[in-house]
Amino acid sequence: MEIYSKSKIWFVTGAQLLYGGETVRQVNEHSETMIAGLNQGGLPLEIVYRGTVNSAEEVTRLFREAENSDECAGIITWMHTFSPAKMWIRGLQAFRKPLLHLHTQFQREIPWDSIDMDYMNLNQSAHGDREFAHIVSRLRKNRRIVVGFWEDETVRSQISDWMRVCAGWKDQQTLRIVRFGDNMNNVAVTDGDKVEAEIRLGYHVDYCPIGDLAEMQDSVSDAQIAALLDEYETLYEVSGELRNDENAWRQVREAAREELALRMMLKEKNANAFTTNFDALHGLDQLPGLASQRLMAEGIGFGAEGDWKTAALTRLFSVMGAGLKGGSSFMEDYVLHFRGGGAILQAHMLEVSPAISGEKPRLEVHPLGIGGKNPPARLVFTAHSGKGIAATVVDLGNRFRMIAAKVDCLQPEADLPKLPVARAFWKPEPDLAVGAAAWMLAGGTHHSAFTFDLTLDQLEDYAEMAEMELLVIDETTTLSRFKETLRLNEIFYGFGRNF
Ligand code: MN
Repeated sequence: MEIYSKSKIWFVTGAQLLYGGETVRQVNEHSETMIAGLNQGGLPLEIVYRGTVNSAEEVTRLFREAENSDECAGIITWMHTFSPAKMWIRGLQAFRKPLLHLHTQFQREIPWDSIDMDYMNLNQSAHGDREFAHIVSRLRKNRRIVVGFWEDETVRSQISDWMRVCAGWKDQQTLRIVRFGDNMNNVAVTDGDKVEAEIRLGYHVDYCPIGDLAEMQDSVSDAQIAALLDEYETLYEVSGELRNDENAWRQVREAAREELALRMMLKEKNANAFTTNFDALHGLDQLPGLASQRLMAEGIGFGAEGDWKTAALTRLFSVMGAGLKGGSSFMEDYVLHFRGGGAILQAHMLEVSPAISGEKPRLEVHPLGIGGKNPPARLVFTAHSGKGIAATVVDLGNRFRMIAAKVDCLQPEADLPKLPVARAFWKPEPDLAVGAAAWMLAGGTHHSAFTFDLTLDQLEDYAEMAEMELLVIDETTTLSRFKETLRLNEIFYGFGRNF
């Protein structure tokens, strides 16, 4: 994904001149060795060493430059020696991008036989990092703290995970979401304050009349459609029955036309996320379900029925999980299954991303029974098994709240021969009774963004970057503690942060 090649993480080492130039020279050399080591071994973003900072002027200049830089997606700080933290105040105040504080040390172990006072003065991360952390806390700035030896895999993987959040956060700051049609009439949970979303989360929610998309279909050539149909036949199972049914194949051709028009429109609008509404399709042949599925698999955000918040979230998950194998998708809770502890069949009318498929998707055409349009083409498959996270963002009137729930994706207990839509089947953690109740107590949507590739820590990082409430539902959740958190958060967010 382009944002990964266009972004870098800056690394800043805190020091001071108290111990003389030779100490700073050694700090510099150690930092260079460390960053070269970190950069070997597949971090998603390159780390650029920006030198030591030894005075308030140097800190301030560097953080201002970082804030204004298109390249810089975040900063990692490390205090090799002691770095008096008043030096960092103005710089940190000028800096609103993601911050990671690495609490490490150049040498893994204490050299018991040779350690002397010079060694102690040079290797002061143990207390230098605490001095720095104090001022970050005093300024009430969120950041990720990673503790460990810099060569260890646990440290590398935490930095790697955080970098993916930085890429996602950066992408959201310039993301444009195009809505084709409004939110579905009368639906509450998918709606919200678009102005506040842009202020707090960065993305812009735009609108495009469906008629403009319908007209765009006139620009699609027969050759383009033929090429796209070939691609469908290569990528998906296409039965002879469908291929030889003139009416059904016409529906696939119309789906291809819609997909090509949609791609052109998104490009023209410079949009990487969109919403549709089955009730607002004037001038289109069918609900563009196949197009939505395929675009999602390429990393475009999608929300059905005008759900722009979930469109932003599916885009975020795609960017954060770029290149990872599990996949992510828009999803909807559909049908409950009260057997064996309980589970939920997940699906949508059509729009589930083949990125999470556990099999080669089948291309099919069936009537939709809603929206009054022609039968739409769609990809039918079952999601693969594995642990994942379903998340949503809701607007509570005075703030946004993210809810993230761990789920265990299972295989359905039997084939679903009469249900021609893509689906997943999952058990919420800790079980359906607690997981579903907590989600509903938190006011969560029926729509969600689902990912196999991300961790709760990453969603915590994201929520902290956005200064957004996060409620987690996992294997440790109990309803009484969850309710207590809800009540406490009403105080914290109601009177503390957002008014
Ligand atoms: Mn829906």
